[in-house]
Amino acid sequence: MDGNHNGDDQTVDQPHERVDELFAAALAVQQNAHAPYSNYRVGAALLTPSGRIFSGCNVENAAYPQGACAEAGAIAAMVAAGEREIVAVLTVCDGEQLGTCCGGCRQRIREFAKLSTPVYAADASGVRATFTLEELLPHSFGPEHLG
Ligand code: ZN
Repeated sequence: MDGNHNGDDQTVDQPHERVDELFAAALAVQQNAHAPYSNYRVGAALLTPSGRIFSGCNVENAAYPQGACAEAGAIAAMVAAGEREIVAVLTVCDGEQLGTCCGGCRQRIREFAKLSTPVYAADASGVRATFTLEELLPHSFGPEHLG
């Protein structure tokens, strides 16, 4: 892997056309969240250039700091499958207020996404807001800073 992505290997040109699938995947995996402490269930789905969708849910732990975010699980699944690029992200959160990725997950996504990558925030009724990664994580630090 040289880490360069010039777009030639991309088969997903219009990630917004896959939003319904991302939502379905995130909503399904949210049902599997292990959130007995917060009762705040999150599902996340990632789209990669190959067209595959990876999903994850939050996994809490009685030792609270050992819990993991949904996005972290989805990213781990993507990396374990040998993929290294995210072209769209969608999260589904519980609650009345619209949830978006936590600060730590914004940085996790930054590792594998472009600043222009869309991040969709949904609740059970569907997508309620769309951001770019740069909007969620301005003035950010990424792999390119390490040369
Ligand atoms: Zn998070």
